[in-house]
Amino acid sequence: MAIAYLCLGTNIEDRKKFIEQAVSFLDMSENIKIIRTSALYETEPWGVKNQNWFLNLAVEIKTSLSPQDLLIKCLNIEKTLGRDRNQESRWGERPIDIDIIFYDNAIIQSEILTVPHERMHLRAFVLVPLLELIPDFRHPVLKKTVSELYDSLEDVEDIFLYGTKL
Ligand code: ATP
Ligand code: CA
Ligand code: CA
Repeated sequence: MAIAYLCLGTNIEDRKKFIEQAVSFLDMSENIKIIRTSALYETEPWGVKNQNWFLNLAVEIKTSLSPQDLLIKCLNIEKTLGRDRNQESRWGERPIDIDIIFYDNAIIQSEILTVPHERMHLRAFVLVPLLELIPDFRHPVLKKTVSELYDSLEDVEDIFLYGTKL
């Protein structure tokens, strides 16, 4: 069994519903158990600014899936919720995005999967929800804790707590 951290995001209405559905699809998956979720955050778009704000959260899971199978599971859930990469631009609008941020201390660099997620350390919308769950977890490549990564952020996009926990 591995412990992994996922970051979910959406900026198409009904945003809260897309997040809730994605979390419940994860939880219903054989071989995935949700341990904890962060609060929901409303975040300024990162990279491409002229689009709706996002809702983001981090999820801690326990899984017997390999990292590759976990990625396939996440991509399938995205598809079930209507995501179509042929219809979208990079970092543009999407009903749901599920990224694998950490998978135990694994370091993976394959054509389809990079773990830890390549840009996680540049993104407040990933680090802030993770701070709630694992402030002291050390990034296996950068060797800094989540809390140290957050302190090293240069550009912090706007991020607000959104309502209550799921
Ligand atoms: P970003 O990767 O900058 O967050 P994005 O999430 O919008 O951008 P997508 O279109 O969702 O990018 O994903 C493109 C591809 O990234 C996926 O098909 C997947 O193969 C690959 N990928 C590599 N590493 C990861 C990871 N850690 N988590 C999820 N997808 C990953
Ligand atoms: Ca992403
Ligand atoms: Ca993604």
